Order: sequence, then C-alpha cells, then structure tokens
Amino acid sequence: MEGRSFLEVNGRRYRWPREPLAVVCVDGCEGAYIDEAVRAGAAPWFARTLKEGSAFVADCVVPSFTNPNNLSIVTGVPPALHGICGNYFYDRERGEEVMMNDPKFLRAGTLLAAFAQAGAAVAVITAKDKLRSLLGHRLEGECFSAEKANEAQLALAGMARPSVYSAELSEFVFAAGAKLMQTRRPDLMYLSTTDYVQHKAAPGSPAANAFYAMMDGYLARLEAAGAAIALTADHGMNDKHAADGSPNVIYLQDLLDEWLGAGAARVILPITDPYVVHHGALGSFATAYLPAGADAQALAARIAALPGIELALLRADACRRFELPEDRMGDLVLVSRRDTVIGSGKSRHDLSGLEVPLRSHGGVSEQKVPLIFNRRIEGLAAGRRLRNFDAFDLALNHAA
Ligand SMILES: [Zn+2]
Repeated sequence: MEGRSFLEVNGRRYRWPREPLAVVCVDGCEGAYIDEAVRAGAAPWFARTLKEGSAFVADCVVPSFTNPNNLSIVTGVPPALHGICGNYFYDRERGEEVMMNDPKFLRAGTLLAAFAQAGAAVAVITAKDKLRSLLGHRLEGECFSAEKANEAQLALAGMARPSVYSAELSEFVFAAGAKLMQTRRPDLMYLSTTDYVQHKAAPGSPAANAFYAMMDGYLARLEAAGAAIALTADHGMNDKHAADGSPNVIYLQDLLDEWLGAGAARVILPITDPYVVHHGALGSFATAYLPAGADAQALAARIAALPGIELALLRADACRRFELPEDRMGDLVLVSRRDTVIGSGKSRHDLSGLEVPLRSHGGVSEQKVPLIFNRRIEGLAAGRRLRNFDAFDLALNHAA
C-alpha cells in the first residue's frame, strides 16, 4: 500500500487506507433486522461488533431508494451533486421517461475510481447488474455482479449462478468478497446486496434471521482476513399494507387525471425498475410533472390533505430539503407515511407478483439506517448529523 497520505474526492478529504477496508451496503437493512437477529442469537459477529466497534444510526438520502443511496455512499455526496435521484426521471423537452441507470447521468466521480486512479487496489461486487455499471464507472479494478458473474467469478464465490430473485444473489456478494479479501487483499472493497429478503420478510422472522446469520458468518470471515468493515444500508424497510394484507396505495395519477384531466399531469415513481416483482413499483416517494399554468401550490395543499400523505412539497423546497438535483425532479415531490405507498394509475401496477403483504421504502419513514464499524470511531464533532454516505469518511478518517 504505497501511496499518499490523503486524497480529496468531491470536496471531501480522505486518509489513505492503512488496512484493507470493506464498505458494505446491506440493501433495505432496517436496523431492527440486526437487533432481532442478535437477540435470537443468530448473529454473533454483529453482537460483538455492536459492543466492541462503533454503531450509529445515520440518515440515508430521500428518496430512500437503492441507486441514489449507493451512489451517495461511493461518492460521499448527496444526489444534488452526483445527479442520481432515482431510477427514472422525465425529460420534458423530449417528452419521455428516461432511465437513470446509465453512467452518463452521473455528475460526480466515485471515491472508488479516485482511489484506484491514485494506485489503490479496489474491488466492487454487487448483487444486481444494474448497479454495477454506475458503481464501476471509470473504475480500474475488479467490478462484477452476482447476476452476470462469469465462470471464474462463480468459482471464486464457490456458488452456482443464483436467481435474480433470491437470498443467494446477496450471498454471492459476501462469498466472493470474503474470498477476495483472503486472497488478493484489496485496499478498498465495496459490497452491495439486494433487498429481496427484506421486501418479503419482517425483522425477526425466520427468513430474515437466516439471512442475517448468513451475512454474519461472511462478515466474520472478512474481519478474520484483516479487513476493517463499515456496514450501512441504502434505506430501511416498512410494512405498507392494511391489517387484511392489502397494500395501502394512493393512486396519484388517477387523482391528478380526475382533477386536471386525463394525462395532463405525469406521475413518476422513481422506484420503478426492471425488477418490480417484489414491490410492484410501489414505494413512498413520487414526483409529479404538472401542465403549464397549473397551480402547484394549491395542488400540493390538496395532496397534502390526503390521508397517508406525509409531505407534499414544491420542487425547490424538496430539492433543498433532500439535497436533490432540481433538473431531474418534477414540479411536486410527494412522500407518503410509514404504512402507505404512492402509485401511478391503478391499472398500471401489476401486483400479481406480490406473494406476501407489501413491504417497501422510499419515504422519510425509511431514512434511519445503521452505520456500524468493527473499529472504534473517534473524534466526531458533537451533534454532527451522520449520513450513510459518511461511511468512507468515518472508516478512513476517524477509526482509532
Ligand atoms: Zn435498496
């Protein structure tokens, strides 16, 4: 580990790693999953690390979705600076909904690429392939996904190719990561899982505890291989259904069609992606593009009065509050409460894939996430608001 004493990336200064560092983003890791697994005796690594390391509760980025948060963690800055604020935005000029999975939408370089450029050995392993191209943008290093792993990578993980909708897709990430740490000892490693299990299973349930027990075993191996570990989440996860198991949905496109005329406004659900089976594209965050001349203020007030809505904000207010890029958000930003999601039109959601009552994310109600280190973290300013995208900062600059 030759090198510099520090590196500046996106206006933040990071110390060069003194030991291999693995930053782990556990998709959908509501803190209760860890607490319950520890209580059940299923997670000895977590139990010990919570005592001997440092554990914080941090705020993720809102919308509490996967891509905005993963990109914030690897750039160290909010979406206002890196540009990725969801899976979709609406291009008004071209009149089309644009998917933001392409690295061309990224406005800031990653820490991973910067450290690799400066001579660090860097490895990135993701569950889904959609994240790989964004996280691996301009990265000279190891970067692969469980979903599209080649034979050598499958052999490294010691696993058969997992299904994209499975707990094994995440297990692959840990298995390959632990093996890489044992063999090649990269200076920096970033591991990112999927929330397949969390969308289906509540904290403390047998499936959830089994998943955290699996993870716990691999984290212990990573640590035994000499890695400092920083573990956080892209977002939390909550039940979004009524007592009878049916989802609590506000179909916002239908309402706006009724109020303004069919198709006059356009609701974008930035959770929408090619993998919607387990959440039906239903989350607690939406943005609406209004027709010219619409009274945004009055509509925001009308939406705010709907049961289940937590916030209805004008674009500028929302972008200031949540640090989002104004040019990629609609005129209104809507956030629903903890137990409620926002849909587009009722007929546009295929809920046939929901085998269990809906659990999802996207709102302020899923903003609290764990931020856990297997080293003591020291010297933080009193009262500092911690974010999940401070993971590299704390691990590199504040570990004892
Ligand atoms: Zn996620």
